[in-house]
Amino acid sequence: MQFTDLPLSADILKAVAEKGYTTPSPIQQQAIPAVLAGRDLMAAAQTGTGKTAGFTLPLLQLLAEGRTQGRKVQANQVRALILTPTRELAAQIAENVALYGKYLPLRSTLVFGGVKINPQMMALRKGVDILIATPGRLMDLYQQNAVRFNQLEVLVLDEADRMLDMGFIRDIKKILALLPPKRQNLLFSATFSNEIRTLAKGLLNDPLEVTVTPPNSTVERIEQWLYPVDKSQKAALLIQQINEHKWQQVLVFTKTKHGANKLTLQLEKAGITAMAIHGNKSQNARTKALAEFKAGGVRVLVATDIAARGLDIQQLPQVVNFELPNVPEDYVHRIGRTGRAGAAGLAVSLVCAEELKELVGIERLIKQLLPRQVIAGFTPQQPLPVTTANSKAPRAVAAKRPQARDHRAGQRSVSQKH
Ligand code: AMP
Repeated sequence: MQFTDLPLSADILKAVAEKGYTTPSPIQQQAIPAVLAGRDLMAAAQTGTGKTAGFTLPLLQLLAEGRTQGRKVQANQVRALILTPTRELAAQIAENVALYGKYLPLRSTLVFGGVKINPQMMALRKGVDILIATPGRLMDLYQQNAVRFNQLEVLVLDEADRMLDMGFIRDIKKILALLPPKRQNLLFSATFSNEIRTLAKGLLNDPLEVTVTPPNSTVERIEQWLYPVDKSQKAALLIQQINEHKWQQVLVFTKTKHGANKLTLQLEKAGITAMAIHGNKSQNARTKALAEFKAGGVRVLVATDIAARGLDIQQLPQVVNFELPNVPEDYVHRIGRTGRAGAAGLAVSLVCAEELKELVGIERLIKQLLPRQVIAGFTPQQPLPVTTANSKAPRAVAAKRPQARDHRAGQRSVSQKH
């Protein structure tokens, strides 16, 4: 199938062709005709599947058609609302909207927190056809009468699971209550937990359900290694590996913001240029870090999972898990940053004995044991226990974790089966 086989207008096909895409991805093949036909959609799809164009292309077309039929947006009104968890993701969607909509007479704007609200209020004054927003800032704008939803035709919730993880459920419910009941709804989520299903039930009307499963093939293409190491030696081992292999562009994941900052300082001290990217950084600092990393001016980008989610960094030769994530699916997201588009990728995890529980969860999810390699000079004093295909999470470690988190992690791995 080609893009030209889809019922998309010449203006949109032209922009797609200029971007160099010829074949729609599976999610695009399924979602585009359904959305154009006005249906609600419930899609299990992660970043990397082409989901953004999957909803952006038909959305642009519907809105442009409405325009030619005389539907004009009024002051402070919005015809389509795209809600997304992070600023980076919002910015990327906005870029896509601008790109694919460049031959269409539609207005779009982007709003998120952490920057001044006034310019955003100004941008909304005349009304916009498409508003891309993070939930918290959207509520602020609503409360200040800068945005109204009487003309809303389409709602897109992108990365709904992440929005719930980030605690946006109350904002989302408040926003939903403000929207006209007659509208089209598109829901995207990497996983479908019970919580998401409940949200979907109250939101969607006879939706088309689409599931696309990218991770396995991605995981298989990536060379994965586990280096057992004591916690206190992790930074030294990372520095040694960067120097020894002369890695020029490494994405390193830490579990916490504090950990990201600390590691960045340690790398800098060792003469390796590094920048941290996480939720506490201002939008400018994050954008700057990403741009410098992409341009090759910074060798190491240290990121937390939430900050890295949706970042458009592709085909990185190396990804390092400085700490394993709590949520096993995040491991797959993280390593999916390397080895895209057939290029060889290397994902290395530095794992200490305290991380056994996380390791077992990951190996169970990816249905393989990570091959281990002890690096000379870094043999752990506290050995990492051997795992087997049916390893159980160690009870003693599990008991140290807060109950709520464990409960959540369990739910997510159940939902992965969808
Ligand atoms: P997404 O899953 O929306 O984050 O998209 C992942 C990446 O795939 C982005 O860099 C897109 O620009 C790219 N992409 C989206 N659709 C296509 C397509 N049909 N052909 C090739 N690349 C695409």
